[in-house]
Amino acid sequence: MKIAVYPGSFDPISNGHLDIIKRASCLFDKLYVLVSINPNKKYVFNEVERVEMMKKVCKDIKNVEVCSSSNLVLNFAIKNNARYLVRGLRNHNDFDNEMQLFQFNHSINSNIETILLFPSANNLFLSSSSIKELVKFNSDISNYVPSVLKDEIETKLKERL
Ligand code: ADP
Repeated sequence: MKIAVYPGSFDPISNGHLDIIKRASCLFDKLYVLVSINPNKKYVFNEVERVEMMKKVCKDIKNVEVCSSSNLVLNFAIKNNARYLVRGLRNHNDFDNEMQLFQFNHSINSNIETILLFPSANNLFLSSSSIKELVKFNSDISNYVPSVLKDEIETKLKERL
């Protein structure tokens, strides 16, 4: 059984993340979407909100399970028999980060492979930060976030930014 983990902050989830989840779910028997909790990072949406939002958009994808963890992603993968980490690769910055992350992970456990997926064309320039910027300047985010979450994301970002 091929099991993978797609970790991220998802603060908030974008159509780019969802696209990666849908495509990765077709490549593996099981895909864990792991909402990461890094005490050194400041999030706009708390853990429960990020998990709940992710569960809402993944509920119809049968082989996806949404979890959260403040542990090392690798430890989560090992504990859940996952041999693959999925990440998105948009640009050179992502490339540099992912290369470093891979080397770090590989030095700890060389059995776990990283699978990088390019974004679909619409999502190439999309990031959680750009969604925050758009809301801050009262621009429409309909094309960038799952429609079922649009109002919640917009309202909470307006209150908090
Ligand atoms: P992190 O804080 O781990 O970078 P993010 O939530 O920003 O978490 O992203 C999680 C993963 O999704 C990363 O691999 C990132 O490159 C990827 N990703 C983010 N936005 C997009 C997008 N628009 N298209 C494809 N992949 C994306």
